[in-house]
Amino acid sequence: MTARVVQVDATHPDPEVVGAAARILLAGGLVAMPTETVYGLAGLADREDSLARIFAAKGRPASHPLIAHVPDLPAARRIAGAWPPLATRLAAEFWPGPLTLVVPRGPSIPRMLTAGLDTMAVRAPDHAVALALLHAVGHPLAAPSANPYQRVSPTTAAHVLEGLGERVDLILDAGPCRLGIESTIVDVTSDPPRILRLGSLGLDQLHAVVPDLLAEPPRAGSHPAPAPGMAARHYAPRARLRIVRRAALAELLAALQPEERPAAVLAFGRAPRLAAEVRALPQDPERYGRQLFAVLHELDALQVRTVLVEEPPDDTAWAAIRDRLRRASAAE
Ligand code: AMP
Ligand code: MG
Repeated sequence: MTARVVQVDATHPDPEVVGAAARILLAGGLVAMPTETVYGLAGLADREDSLARIFAAKGRPASHPLIAHVPDLPAARRIAGAWPPLATRLAAEFWPGPLTLVVPRGPSIPRMLTAGLDTMAVRAPDHAVALALLHAVGHPLAAPSANPYQRVSPTTAAHVLEGLGERVDLILDAGPCRLGIESTIVDVTSDPPRILRLGSLGLDQLHAVVPDLLAEPPRAGSHPAPAPGMAARHYAPRARLRIVRRAALAELLAALQPEERPAAVLAFGRAPRLAAEVRALPQDPERYGRQLFAVLHELDALQVRTVLVEEPPDDTAWAAIRDRLRRASAAE
């Protein structure tokens, strides 16, 4: 059965809609909920049957831990096994917001959520709908991005419907996500604290609070894997994606084989005139991030086979976007 899609105001959600979604979750169902980063596939984080449904719906391997979502710091502390002082400072500074903290796991959280680890990832999302749902449910919610495993994350309800429409009970549609790139993950159990995934919260902001933060995330595919769920290929469209310099676009495009077409180009600023679908994206990293996944979904829908992406600047403001493009372009 295809999911029911219900419109909900992004800033003042209707309590009846939120209540209906909460009842589905409490009965063990799955609800796609908007957050400021991407749409999440929510289920109860403290119930194994709900967690099993999330893994099955996404086709996600059990070795990839999920993030628990909570409304605020006290709720996070209740489910954690211990709460490092640095986690209090980071939560005070950035929650609700696109920062996920890895802390010791508490006894109410099943190992299924953490892929067997004694640590767990937790964050408070900055979205009125997600927060209202968390308050109404009264449980932490596991909410990985609401897309099939390794595909592009959804930034609209339509993306969720297309990818997981048959596997979710309800989709709350609050319009496009404000940030469009997943949360930044920081492990505060390691010394020094370490970034595990680049994301919407910028490195400069984090460094201002944690000067000794190790900012180089673990390399995908390194052995032994320093963190779970760090697959090299991730966030990937169906098309083959290649990151190229602007000056090389025309030549590479002309050299594509028939089976590599149709092709598309993602360029910065003014769109170059090329014999392909061309999408011009903003030169500002925040606006680029907001649009990137939606453009990749759109090109997938057009059945494009190759996407040439103009290389973004090698600058910390672009670090998360460079990371997502690199993973989207990694070999199967
Ligand atoms: P997603 O839910 O798709 O945004 O991805 C969640 C990611 O969080 C996983 O793929 C892991 O990289 C990371 N993560 C979750 N829990 C932990 C943990 N306990 N330790 C390290 N990384 C974690
Ligand atoms: Mg994901």
